[in-house]
Amino acid sequence: MNKVISLDKRPKGKPTLHDFKITSEEIPTANDGEILLKTVYVSVDPYLRGRMNDTKSYVPPFELNKPIQSGIIAEVTESKQEGFKNGDYVTGNLEWKEYQTSNGKNLQKVDGSIAKLSSYLGILGMTGLTAYLGLTEIGVPKEGETIVVSGAGGAVGTVVGQIGKLLGCRVVGITGSDEKAALLTSKFKFDEAINYNSTKDLKADIKSTCPQGVDIYFDNVGGEISDAVLANINKYARLPVCGAISLYNKTEQPTGPRLQPLLLTKSATMRGFIIGDFSEKFPAATEQLTKWLSEDKLTFSETIVEGFDNIPQAFLDLFEGKNKGKMIVKI
Ligand code: NDP
Repeated sequence: MNKVISLDKRPKGKPTLHDFKITSEEIPTANDGEILLKTVYVSVDPYLRGRMNDTKSYVPPFELNKPIQSGIIAEVTESKQEGFKNGDYVTGNLEWKEYQTSNGKNLQKVDGSIAKLSSYLGILGMTGLTAYLGLTEIGVPKEGETIVVSGAGGAVGTVVGQIGKLLGCRVVGITGSDEKAALLTSKFKFDEAINYNSTKDLKADIKSTCPQGVDIYFDNVGGEISDAVLANINKYARLPVCGAISLYNKTEQPTGPRLQPLLLTKSATMRGFIIGDFSEKFPAATEQLTKWLSEDKLTFSETIVEGFDNIPQAFLDLFEGKNKGKMIVKI
């Protein structure tokens, strides 16, 4: 039988396992013009939380009782579509099913001999592109500048920090545990890392770790962490707003400091983005990331959870900071 995970209820606040439903159906067969795909790796991502709300956004909400979708790596196990053969691996936005058919449109082939298959969901996939293009297109780092990254121990944050170092910047990361903070300065070569859960004064810690002030703030989390960073920005600071995970489960949005006087007096630019905004730059960005990776100038971490049934729990664990680097489920 073929297991399927659907959205059973729209979460109120923090999602729970009860919001998901696992059911079984017959394994499909490929019709003419189709391929049969066996799911190998599933990406769980914070942005999926937004799609669980019944609100208009940049992507339509998930429908109740329909399979959830996310980035998936799958193996072609049957092909009646030109251009695909058994044993090919593909990636695309696919359904949380063990097996599914596709006409192959909107799927890209991936090559496990160039890089680990799972890396196409992380550093060579959406999160790597988000880090690279958010930082270079909006942050526009110049050598010698100081970058602060929040959510620094995650999939996007670890890549942002490393690219900042490659481009000659001082990089300070903010993360949720001492273990992750140590990983940032050792494995990922950040200059300094701050644990936001143990600091007594985040604003003061940012000031002391950024003696020249903050030129770029790559914001993955929003909320009070970002308030503390913004209090330390320099004139002409650039603030790519990539994510706001600290606010995704709030049933009411808290009000923070009014930012207009600060942005005005610092001549600062705060700009939100969705990675699709930069889609025409994906091929060149992927080439650059692949090159850096092959030259060992970039590295990555993954937290791999095993088992199809554990996809919802892996998603929930993102909000508890249980991942180091990219959270992926291996089927
Ligand atoms: P991560 O790998 O960073 O995983 C989420 C991490 O967020 C957790 O490990 C946890 O780390 C941290 N976190 C969870 N809750 C909170 C909280 N309340 N306050 C502060 N930190 C928290 O996820 P991604 O790298 O995939 O994504 C990072 C951000 O980028 C997300 O906000 C996501 O929505 C956004 N994003 C945006 C894209 C775009 O196109 N704009 C594309 C991809 C991602 P810790 O231990 O440090 O708390």
